[in-house]
Parts: sequence; C-alpha cells; structure tokens
Amino acid sequence: MAARSASAGSHPPAPGEDVSCALALVNTRFMGAGRLVDLIADAPGATGWLTGRGLVPLGAAVSGQDAARLGALRETIRALFAARADTAAPATGDLAALNAALAGAPLVPALTWGDAGPRRDEQLIGPAADPVDVALARLAGDALGVLTGTGEAQPAPCGAHGCIRWFLRTHAARQWCSARCGDRVRAARHYARHHQ
Ligand SMILES: [Zn+2]
Repeated sequence: MAARSASAGSHPPAPGEDVSCALALVNTRFMGAGRLVDLIADAPGATGWLTGRGLVPLGAAVSGQDAARLGALRETIRALFAARADTAAPATGDLAALNAALAGAPLVPALTWGDAGPRRDEQLIGPAADPVDVALARLAGDALGVLTGTGEAQPAPCGAHGCIRWFLRTHAARQWCSARCGDRVRAARHYARHHQ
C-alpha cells in the first residue's frame, strides 16, 4: 500500500504551502526515499488531506472517484504552474479543467473579521453544493490567485535533481523546496568536485 502519512519521506512543507492550498495540493505527489508517494491516491488519503487543510468538513463523504477528481485537478494545476514558470501557453484542456472546477461551486468574495482583523474569504452562492465540488472550486480559485498574482511570490519547481515539488519563490536566490534539497545538491556538487 502506498504510504500516505504526511511524514512519508519526511518532507517539511515547502515555502508557500501555508498560504496556498493549491501549492500544497501539487506537493501531495513527491519523491520520498527514492519512490513516488501520492498522499491522495485513494478515498482515505484524499479525505485525510482535504479535512487536514480544512477544505471539507470532518465526516464529509469523499469517494474514490472524488480522490481521482482531486488528483486530476492537481495535475492540471501543476501543468498551469509549469506553463507560468516557462512563460509558455498552457494546454487548452488544462485551462478548461481549471475553469470547470471554478464553475463547479460558484463562490463570491466575502469579508470576515476575526481576532486578527479583516480577512478576505469566500462564500458559496446558491443552494448547498457537494462539499468536494466546493473544495475543488476553492483549490482552483487559489491556483487562479497564484497564477495571476502580481506580487513577488511566483510558483517555481524545486531545482534539486529527482525532486518534483514546487514552492512559492519570494526571492530570486531561492532554488530549493527545502533545506534538505539544498543540502543534497551542495553535497552532490562537493562530491563531484572531489571525485573527478
Ligand atoms: Zn525539493
């Protein structure tokens, strides 16, 4: 059985996962201990991830088909991040898939006010929708914000060989998704220098 605990491969969250659920979704597929790990490959994995991020309420029914839809949205977002990073036009199918997820549960901006002050939020318009449709729309909306954001944070692939994670780059010097990847690359360079 595929490992699905968050500790599989013991990667800490990549920079930006705290603010972007779309980025965190992209990073649910990663290389851990030399093999591909998929945290949302089945219904229990998808349920755990969605509830852990607060995207569906505890106890929501998430089917294997929902897990497949979540996995498909992940690959769409990854492809759109890659198009943005490469300044290339994305596949029309990826654009259509993201827009379909946005339209699956129309959300409108909403202002909420908590202890930390005013905060931009979203609320569902119309009748109660399938909680997974709402989660997919929220994830697609977050991806839309990352892709069109004009701030300095840009989605970037980790530069370490064999790592498939992404992170939000907030300064040009950052090339790795984690200190561990950076250390791994520096160690490989050191080895190459001394064993030629
Ligand atoms: Zn990495």
